[in-house]
Amino acid sequence: MTSATSTYPFNARTDDILAGLEKGGQYKHLQMLTGPMGPTVMLRDASGESREVICMCSNNYLGLANHPEVVEAGIEGLKKYGAGTASVRFICGTFDCHETLETTIARYMGTQSSYTFVSCWNANEAIFATLGESGDLIISDELNHASIIDGIRLAAVIKKGLHKGVYKHNDLDDLRKKLEAARANPDVTGQIWVVTDGVFSMEGDIADLPALRKLCDEFDAMIIVDDSHGHGVMGATGRGTHEHFNMCPGAPNFDASLGEVDLFTGTLGKGLGGGAGGFIAGRKRATELIVQRGRPTLFSNALPCTVACSANKAIEIVLREPERVKALRDITTYARTEIKNAGFEVIDSPTAICPIIVGETSTAIAMSKKLLELGVFVIGFGYPVVPEGEARLRLQLSAAHTTEHVDQVVDALKKL
Ligand SMILES: *Cc1c(COP(=O)(O)O)cnc(C)c1O
Repeated sequence: MTSATSTYPFNARTDDILAGLEKGGQYKHLQMLTGPMGPTVMLRDASGESREVICMCSNNYLGLANHPEVVEAGIEGLKKYGAGTASVRFICGTFDCHETLETTIARYMGTQSSYTFVSCWNANEAIFATLGESGDLIISDELNHASIIDGIRLAAVIKKGLHKGVYKHNDLDDLRKKLEAARANPDVTGQIWVVTDGVFSMEGDIADLPALRKLCDEFDAMIIVDDSHGHGVMGATGRGTHEHFNMCPGAPNFDASLGEVDLFTGTLGKGLGGGAGGFIAGRKRATELIVQRGRPTLFSNALPCTVACSANKAIEIVLREPERVKALRDITTYARTEIKNAGFEVIDSPTAICPIIVGETSTAIAMSKKLLELGVFVIGFGYPVVPEGEARLRLQLSAAHTTEHVDQVVDALKKL
């Protein structure tokens, strides 16, 4: 018997792809958490039982994901505004909690204004396609996040004649060459944009923003920084990589002579711990155009109010308690030292991301499996996510981790 569906090319093709992933050890098995995100989490095992493991792979950098005040603010928001916005922003989906959150984000980032999205993925989908025009050139660091890459691709499709380029990771000499070529290219008639992650998620390294600013000024290029892994982590008060480099207006160490970043995107779902959501922050003129023309908010529901209320509270806590940022820095330094003392190779950086290089992809996968048995939840990343031979365990620290947690992790590593 043949059913109508048996002839779909999709069927055999998809089965092949899935089988290939399984065979290559790249098939992702989703781990099921049965309680809140925290320094330890409850993880469901094959038998259906939950057990507590130390979580070393979340983006919960400041431990705010389950902070009582953040949870309470969400509950209050749910009660006050109900569950759904039931509208996009420009029809009837803008609530005063959005206004409050966007004011808080602007104050936190040291920018004139901000505008929120349901995710930073959405923010990156909006920013290039809305602000870019034909004749512009967008140059992107080769290790930028997937949402930036896809956002630029989308922009080049929507705005015909918008050019795109890539520069070698954190290589300002290469970027200079690309900028010189652009200025000599008669097709590049509009704005040049340089785009970078603030903190790069696989290496844990950072973009040299003062040097980028100087270089871009020579070529009249605007800088966009996606600091999703930098918020709550970088700078004395956790505002991000720009604060780390004394480039955040409103932060105690601001040095106006270094110049500023033109535009930011960021997430509310990592260090800022509000649950989820993303934003664009910068000059009013830019966010105003996004409000008018950004398709992801013109045609998609607003950030849920309960999430907006939680996110607002989380940022208030970051600004109120800079000691959380210091605690994260201290526990990260402790972890790096202990892991090195145990004989492992850790990539150094000022961030809370500690990649332990182990070599082969299969080694990384086997090690993360064994660590889970020992009660430590860590993810192994291999080729093609990172270069061949540089497979790694990526440990991410949280201000909520104690030295006891780290000691247990290091003991488990020693047992491998
Ligand atoms: C995590 C991340 C994102 C995606 O953020 P969401 O809010 O989860 O969509 C975007 N950009 C960078 C650099 C990220 O690290």
